[in-house]
Amino acid sequence: MTQRDSTSSTDHTWNIETQFVHGGRAVRQSKGSTGTPTVRPIHASTTYFHESAEALDRAFDGTNPDGEPTFVYARYGNPNAAAFEEAMARVERGVGAVCYGSGMAAIHAALLTAGLTTGAKIVASQDLYGPTITLLRSVFVPIGVELVLTDLCKPEALDLIHAEEPDVIYLETVSNPLVKVVDLDAISAVAHEVGAVTIVDSTFSTPYLTRPLEHGLDLVVHSATKYIGGHGDSTGGVVVSAKQALLDQLHNYTILLGAMLSPFESHLMLRGLRTLALRMERQCRNAMQVASFLHRHPSIERVHYPGLEEHPQHALANRLMDHNQYGGLLAFELKEQSRAAAFCFMNKLQLCIHATTLGDVFSLVSYPPVSSHRTLNTTELRTMGITDGCIRMSVGIENVEDIILDLDQALKQAE
Ligand code: PLP
Repeated sequence: MTQRDSTSSTDHTWNIETQFVHGGRAVRQSKGSTGTPTVRPIHASTTYFHESAEALDRAFDGTNPDGEPTFVYARYGNPNAAAFEEAMARVERGVGAVCYGSGMAAIHAALLTAGLTTGAKIVASQDLYGPTITLLRSVFVPIGVELVLTDLCKPEALDLIHAEEPDVIYLETVSNPLVKVVDLDAISAVAHEVGAVTIVDSTFSTPYLTRPLEHGLDLVVHSATKYIGGHGDSTGGVVVSAKQALLDQLHNYTILLGAMLSPFESHLMLRGLRTLALRMERQCRNAMQVASFLHRHPSIERVHYPGLEEHPQHALANRLMDHNQYGGLLAFELKEQSRAAAFCFMNKLQLCIHATTLGDVFSLVSYPPVSSHRTLNTTELRTMGITDGCIRMSVGIENVEDIILDLDQALKQAE
């Protein structure tokens, strides 16, 4: 866990694409060294020894007198995690970051850090990733947390926040699976008025498109398993803080929860981050073309994608998302609104993978009621607007013509 790695190479003035490529890269050469590797080695060690007992004592503080990070024991942090955290803090414009063994572990730590304890109240978006709602209901509500779920995309939500005066507000930049966009500036303004700590899960938009801390939010969370790792081979999460006091709390909880990201996974996450801009560029471009194709398709009832002019928050997406791009995720509803039709379509796909994740280089489809929203009942799914014919798609980096051909043949066969 680190606040700043003074040995790293990033420069605040660089554009975000450059920061992705160079963030957390070691540059300092130690005396008598035979050279510094451009890629950090994987530090597969649980403990670290220091030149004296006094030095070990000081090392527990996390930095040495030169401001360089110090390490003592794996659960407290490791150099690979520190490099990944340093890079994430820079690209999200935070004071520091802490990484975790999964996105859910990151969410749990962020909720505790925000002060969600007995007697506290949280207003959360009703459209959250299913297990986040389940975490709130099954871990926090039983210890006396009051949970208010609402549609944070609606203007009335601001009045509700005023009336409820919550301690914590929790949202996602882009909702799952219907890619609804939340007005980060409006939520941030009302949160400041009522004194609430804000947490935003920015997994879908990534710092390439949106940086919530620049809009005044307090903590940004990612399932790094998705776009940041990007290759479907590593699981992790990260929380970036806008404030030092929250960062210190994150550190404290992380050590106690034992949720630290391992050196191997940290290495893979930082490697993924290096190519995030390239992958996002392609995924967003492909997603726009896939959304336009599906929008015109006779077997499709509705397409949810903020890049389409018909999308109710297209203008808001233009304000919040950079590069005139709108993310790699979309949802669509089949004309035949049934689970059987959705399953039939997914079974006919040959290129797009039917799997419950997103953000990988591969195109992926999933059926929310049996995957991301499995723990929610039919009434809750309907309230969120998830119909029986709704399919979520994470568009990959393949040639978009191949993706479209695959969707087309599966739709025709499923008719
Ligand atoms: N947040 C969002 C938006 C997700 O989609 C997911 C997983 O799909 C998570 C958090 C949880 O991440 P993880 O599976 O890495 O724990």
